[in-house]
Amino acid sequence: PNFPVDKPKKVLLAAPRGYCAGVDRAVIAVEKALDLYGSPVYVRKEIVHNVHVVSTLEERGAIFVNEVDEAPAGSHLVFSAHGVSPAVVKEAADRNMQTIDATCPLVTKVHREAVRFARDDYEILLIGHAGHEEVEGTAGEAPDHVTIVDSPAAVATVVVKDPNKVVWLSQTTLSVDETMETVRLLRERFPNLQDPPSDDICYATQNRQVAIKKVAPDADLVIVVGSANSSNSVRLVEVALEYGARAAYRIDYAHEVKPEWFEGVATVGVTSGASVPEDLVQDLMALLATGGYDTVEEVKTAEEDLLFSLPKELRFNVTGEE
Ligand code: SF4
Repeated sequence: PNFPVDKPKKVLLAAPRGYCAGVDRAVIAVEKALDLYGSPVYVRKEIVHNVHVVSTLEERGAIFVNEVDEAPAGSHLVFSAHGVSPAVVKEAADRNMQTIDATCPLVTKVHREAVRFARDDYEILLIGHAGHEEVEGTAGEAPDHVTIVDSPAAVATVVVKDPNKVVWLSQTTLSVDETMETVRLLRERFPNLQDPPSDDICYATQNRQVAIKKVAPDADLVIVVGSANSSNSVRLVEVALEYGARAAYRIDYAHEVKPEWFEGVATVGVTSGASVPEDLVQDLMALLATGGYDTVEEVKTAEEDLLFSLPKELRFNVTGEE
């Protein structure tokens, strides 16, 4: 990318970006399972939604399957960071699989909320994308109590039995603004709608959106590193455009950058989704530097130091003791 522009070229690098605590833990869980048990270790669904992470783990001997019955009975099977429904857990138990649950604890928290509200006979309006693994897992905790609401536009057609006993929950990786709009519209229809006990949209999703909101108004172009099926990455592109970036694109790898994106561009904003290794961002930064975008300013809106302990199945030392 080497278009002449009349202002100095620079990069605004959003922080926080990239790996969250739940992704870090899930990826380490697969690596550790491979170390302990050797290849193959099966993983149900992509461990996290990033093509590079998945292909790197495949090279190390992980085998990704879509459903439990695609892995041999009795084999080691990791559940992905997005969580699984009780039906999937049961299927794995029935097949005698040695399971390792890498569900992010912040997804598990939403599962628990779903179980509790269902037990108290609430109808749960689950804001999220139908078909996303996390939504399938959460909805599967209480299938008879959950209705999925996938956008503000979907609110108009929601049907409930008792408008005085409804609660909303959400997927962890949504746009904060759009979710609040969905909730506002739901509450217009159901004034007694109950809120979740705490935020379901996780800290990492929120922090990455706050940072790109700060970068976007000053950016002629925003590039988000992240995969197409990564909900939080795709949201970052949308949020950047909503907050004033003149253009915003998502890439998996630096080589996907197109020269024509840079016409008249002085300031490039860069961020990455919660499932993206920092190496991929640094590849992009190196490429940008070759085009003259070598002045880098970090725009930091929060510190993150959250760490989750490993899945309990892996929390033992080399002697095999807990
Ligand atoms: Fe957990 Fe949030 Fe990361 Fe998903 S994006 S793995 S919910 S911390």
